[in-house]
Amino acid sequence: MEGGKLIIFSAPSGSGKTTIVRHLLKQKELNLAFSVSATSRPRRGKEINKEHYYFMSVSEFKQHIKNEDFLEWEEVYRDNFYGTLKSEVERLWAEGKNVIFDIDVVGGLRIKRKFPKETLAVFVKPPSVDELKIRLKKRSTESDDKINMRIAKASVELATAPQFDKVIKNYDLDTALQEAHSLVADFVGVSKEK
Ligand code: 5GP
Repeated sequence: MEGGKLIIFSAPSGSGKTTIVRHLLKQKELNLAFSVSATSRPRRGKEINKEHYYFMSVSEFKQHIKNEDFLEWEEVYRDNFYGTLKSEVERLWAEGKNVIFDIDVVGGLRIKRKFPKETLAVFVKPPSVDELKIRLKKRSTESDDKINMRIAKASVELATAPQFDKVIKNYDLDTALQEAHSLVADFVGVSKEK
């Protein structure tokens, strides 16, 4: 597999990485395209198949694992599988794009190890675990059980931050967005001017 650059944004759920990734996708000069992951978790709210995720059953997902279709995959939460299909990255590279990922820390580091030179791995750090809890509750798309599961995982994920190329502190969103833009612009080799 070869092509453009890979930009990974990983962070505990609720850290604001999705907001950052969406913002970057709007910056045309960065020439980014979003890597749509496959998942076996149920669809949430207004999510659209093939746009937010390739939604599939656990058995379909396991078949793709068997076929070695994934660049990386992870059982992020019990029976909730997530993974990056090789075909997705190949498709976007064939379009001449740099690929941006919104994925879990383990998956992010796995891609970085597979493509060390082509990848910029960024960790987005939330102000605190308490703040994460507040943000996830505000989002209110999930049950308390699920939220607690995400919080428990967050502490483990925070410990992986030093393994990333860069860490962005998302204490103030505008600052985090600017910092993210500047890091990615440098990495893909374009001017920071919009
Ligand atoms: P959510 O259910 O909130 O959409 O995502 C849960 C977690 O799974 C998030 O941390 C998200 O970044 C991660 N995730 C999404 N896609 C992938 C993927 O393709 N691979 C891995 N390893 N994690 C993913």
